[in-house]
Amino acid sequence: MGPLRLGMTKEEVERVCQEHRIGHSGATGPDGLQVDFHAGRATRIEILAEYPFARLSLAGQVLPDVSDETIRRLLAKIIPLPGNWTEPEASGLAVFHWELSDTFVFSFRLFLPGYRTIREDGTPVLPAPVRPPRRVSASFSCDACARTAAVATTTPSMGLLDIDWSPARLEEVVPFAQRQRVLQAVKAASPAALFAVNEAFAPFYCPACQKSYCREHWRFEAAGSEDAAPPLCPRGHHRTR
Ligand SMILES: [Zn+2]
Ligand SMILES: [Zn+2]
Repeated sequence: MGPLRLGMTKEEVERVCQEHRIGHSGATGPDGLQVDFHAGRATRIEILAEYPFARLSLAGQVLPDVSDETIRRLLAKIIPLPGNWTEPEASGLAVFHWELSDTFVFSFRLFLPGYRTIREDGTPVLPAPVRPPRRVSASFSCDACARTAAVATTTPSMGLLDIDWSPARLEEVVPFAQRQRVLQAVKAASPAALFAVNEAFAPFYCPACQKSYCREHWRFEAAGSEDAAPPLCPRGHHRTR
């Protein structure tokens, strides 16, 4: 931004603007420059990409043009670009397009950490902290060999249930209405409760024995038959309710 910098006081910004005979009023005002202040300091500067009163530079290079290709290339020189390269939030720079389909940049926004979005009074709208989704696991041991029969892991916010029934790994989608019951079942390490929600959620569990078994201790019909019978538990139960 040349002489204009984030963190400047209002007076300093006024002086620079007067020296260069530019205004900074109104986001889409005639001057194409907007400076927002909070507690007397510039926290956000937004400027038209094709600003007529100054030359913009990025990564130490005066912009030859404002095509996506150029801006992206220059940005990549100074920061690792995220998937959405126009929102490299951590860099304190956001890149806007007038229309989503545009292939050239409309404006740039420089901001202090947390000031990407502000309220009308200039205070920052802090993004919610990103927390990893909560996962809860339970492991079930085999009643025949005492080794781990299966490990069930649920991620309730995503509606997922992973079942490691070695060597099989199953990923089940849990309908919204069942997420709470699945979470409770895993928390309680209750294969019966999991089975009660959906038989597919506890394939390692025999309801007749009320026991879990590792995959080795279930007897599967030879592969290749059209209508494979349900597997048999070590005590000869078909796996049905
Ligand atoms: Zn076993
Ligand atoms: Zn059984």
